[in-house]
Amino acid sequence: MINKRELELLGNALVKLEDGTSGLPDFTPSFDTERAAEVLMDVAERMQDNYPYFHPQYAGQMLKPPHPVARMAYALSLWVNPNNHALDGGRASSAMEKECIVDLGRMFGWDRPLGHLAGGGTMANLEALWVAGRLHPGKKVIASAQAHYTHGRITEVLGIPFAGVPVDTHGRMDVAAVERMLGEGEIGTVVVTMGNTGLGAVDPLEDILALRDRYEFRIHADAAYGGYFGLAHELGSDQRRHYDRLGDVDSIVIDPHKHGLQPYGCGCILFRDPSVGTLYKHDSPYTYFSSGEMHLGEITLECSRPGASAVALWATHRLLPPTPGGDFAQGLDACLRAARTLWRDLHNSSKFTPLMQPELDIVVYAVNAASTSAASERARDVFQKAADRELHLALIELPSDLFSGYAPEVAVDSDTVTCLRSTLMKPEHEEWLERLTALLEASAG
Ligand SMILES: *Cc1c(COP(=O)(O)O)cnc(C)c1O
Repeated sequence: MINKRELELLGNALVKLEDGTSGLPDFTPSFDTERAAEVLMDVAERMQDNYPYFHPQYAGQMLKPPHPVARMAYALSLWVNPNNHALDGGRASSAMEKECIVDLGRMFGWDRPLGHLAGGGTMANLEALWVAGRLHPGKKVIASAQAHYTHGRITEVLGIPFAGVPVDTHGRMDVAAVERMLGEGEIGTVVVTMGNTGLGAVDPLEDILALRDRYEFRIHADAAYGGYFGLAHELGSDQRRHYDRLGDVDSIVIDPHKHGLQPYGCGCILFRDPSVGTLYKHDSPYTYFSSGEMHLGEITLECSRPGASAVALWATHRLLPPTPGGDFAQGLDACLRAARTLWRDLHNSSKFTPLMQPELDIVVYAVNAASTSAASERARDVFQKAADRELHLALIELPSDLFSGYAPEVAVDSDTVTCLRSTLMKPEHEEWLERLTALLEASAG
């Protein structure tokens, strides 16, 4: 779990960091090291009660370990503890954040987006929908029934009317339904999910963009989970055509703490049109007095934010640039291959039925049984038996009609059916797959 070299590299970098303050009289805060040592041991013990998220045998929820360089850079910056709200609080880390925004914008062909990091996808989406609501006051926001539940909740917070759009058998937003709703009027914004959290399905962005010929509406892309997959060489052609149009939307949310190898607390919002920055205008008497340069707090809803997140992302971009063909992109290719292979293997299993073909790196599969209620029970049983063998999966509750398209012979005696779900978001999952499949089969024994 812990590579000892990490602590050594961090120690060396801290010595270098300290050089920056050598002009000051010495001041080293002291603390009760003996008591702190005991407390830390208690912490280590308490923290043993977790799933092994870092390990390839954790193949469940959307959890990906941070890259060591991100962890080291994050930890290093804590000795400064910068606050990226304002330049007074985080000079270097604010500059690093702006550079990261340029890197992320380039992934979508945007040279000068307005954007910043955020606490996560929820906060970043909140900001996107707040701007959407300001620009289309009183009009509805719509998102697919498989979109993240945060959109329904955020619109409630913002007081914006919201409606869900049905999904097709793949779990993608139904374009005909979107068109019908646009025809009825009062739609201000369509949220297009590029990789939904449950199924990894990619909404048909290209087709929704085409509707702008006839209707006027904003498009917000929620790419919190799937945003990086445009870099992947092995992205399917069906998905590629939508990813290639991401630059045409009005705003994009991408979570570096999902697929971007970052510790938690790192989401990102990007706006294509930088003039939306004027919506944030406010007069803070406290914050902006040291510099004429832009403070990130002038274009964020959140105030205090960890500069550490920007430092960690900046370091990761230096080591693994988010560009096509690079090592980072190849890691995404491995995830795509792993998901496809698992889906194919499950087709050959007598114990499982895979549902939709994975579009990204999430595989959803049912445990074979005569009825939906029995399949649900068996899924929960396999989940537990797999955990006993240190194979960690996730469960997902799906509407039975979505499930039935893939298993028409199963009697429907419940509204929903519990399925198993594996997010294969570590590149190492590809090499470990044979072992994972064997453990899965044994758990359904
Ligand atoms: C994870 C996720 C969110 C919520 O983001 P957090 O970082 O958990 O706040 C929103 N939308 C999608 C598609 C997601 O996958």
